[in-house]
Amino acid sequence: MTPGARADDLRIAGLVRLSTCDWPGRLVATVFLQGCPLSCTYCHNPSLIDPRAPGTVSWQSVRELLDRRRGMLDGVVFSGGEPTRQAGLAPAMREVRERGFAVGLHTAGPYPRRFAEVLPLCDWVGLDIKAPASRYEAVTGVPSSGARAFESLRLALEAEVDLQVRTTVDPTVLSPGEVDDLVVALRELGVREHVRQEVRAEGTRPEFAARLERVRRELSRTANRSAGAA
Ligand code: SF4
Repeated sequence: MTPGARADDLRIAGLVRLSTCDWPGRLVATVFLQGCPLSCTYCHNPSLIDPRAPGTVSWQSVRELLDRRRGMLDGVVFSGGEPTRQAGLAPAMREVRERGFAVGLHTAGPYPRRFAEVLPLCDWVGLDIKAPASRYEAVTGVPSSGARAFESLRLALEAEVDLQVRTTVDPTVLSPGEVDDLVVALRELGVREHVRQEVRAEGTRPEFAARLERVRRELSRTANRSAGAA
């Protein structure tokens, strides 16, 4: 627990008042926290990366929403950006629980210490594991981000929290063999729910969208050639 941390100090970049997809099977409000230490190739929210950018939504307005939606919402998901970057996360989660709502968290696990602090306050975690540890930096642009993410995974498994591990597959970085290796590694570590999703070009930086299109064209040409040779 960070001394003096307050939910009111959270920098909140956005609030979705009703979401059916941010926590599978639950009706939630989703709070998007500003700032992320990673710089993923395919980031769909690059405007949320800058940690110095001010928030645009007050925590007080989240409180008021919850008070109005009692009985209509199951919980609150903290997303980002990277929510574990901010010290106000734990006090905010406590307030959500005190109001009788469940707490979900989307994280890429770059801050294992703060993740360990908030895990007991989470009812569900969606944890991004972006690549095999050896290929992490190629996706996130940050050295040792893989070690941190896998440490967070270890903490989540140890805590036995309801956990969904997610991998957005970036074919400009990862080969199909590397993705298969990751699937096997996660299974061996004890991950029960792993969701793979294809990267989307929408909302990404233009240079990434162009590279993705090029790589996809090459992959489909190779697949067509192999089908023709068979
Ligand atoms: S972890 Fe999420 S918000 Fe941060 S850079 Fe990667 S995709 Fe963007």
